[in-house]
Amino acid sequence: MNRDAAWLPLTMELARWEDAGRTAEFWLRDDDAVEPTEPLDRLLGLTEKFGVPATLAVIPAFTGKALAIRLAGASQVTVAVHGWSHENHAPDEEKKQELGRHRERGMVRDDLGRGLFHITNLHGPRMVPLLVPPWNRIHPDLLPDLMPLGFTALSVFGPAKPAAIRTINSNVDLMDWHGTRGCRDHGLIARDIAAQLAQAFEGGDAVGILTHHLVHDEAAWVFLEDLFELTAGHRACGWRSIRELIATGEEAAR
Ligand SMILES: [Zn+2]
Repeated sequence: MNRDAAWLPLTMELARWEDAGRTAEFWLRDDDAVEPTEPLDRLLGLTEKFGVPATLAVIPAFTGKALAIRLAGASQVTVAVHGWSHENHAPDEEKKQELGRHRERGMVRDDLGRGLFHITNLHGPRMVPLLVPPWNRIHPDLLPDLMPLGFTALSVFGPAKPAAIRTINSNVDLMDWHGTRGCRDHGLIARDIAAQLAQAFEGGDAVGILTHHLVHDEAAWVFLEDLFELTAGHRACGWRSIRELIATGEEAAR
């Protein structure tokens, strides 16, 4: 499939938004950063070039000042809390989970509090009190603990479920985790984005694009750049910062 054919479902959907005089909202979440790396430079370069706000979900236990220093000039970047140490506490037969009920609830709560504190100390105003659970999983019993700990929002993957905290999910993942472990077929990703936009057209949430810069193959980088090229200057598209999305939700709840 050539490039234009692969992107056709999305360009057609965007034409519908444009005809309706509406703006399709996107946001970008990138997971697992801990330190400056070449792939991180590439991500920051792309988001800066296209003026796309990015939320980095940073693993608190393994990060430090070097990342904060690297991000100092990157005004398009906010930093969220990616669990504590991205360790799996579930037994082998279960899906991987750091924030489950495999440990005492107080222990998980302490980890989360420590994570928020550490990221706040390192990143100050760049920090947004958004929890991104490792592997996008958190036990529902733990949700009522989040706001008392200081989090204002949660982001997992897939359709948002009712929760005791504002939820802003990612919906479209670039990577093929169970197959090639590289980028998914570009046409399939474009179709997924178009499908999410079709839902949003009827009153759904912003479309959350999920990336993992540390494991991107060349195809993933090409996809991201093509996506930014198509959308960043498009009259019917708006890339939102996570802060804007959280604020919009708070307004709607009032
Ligand atoms: Zn992760």
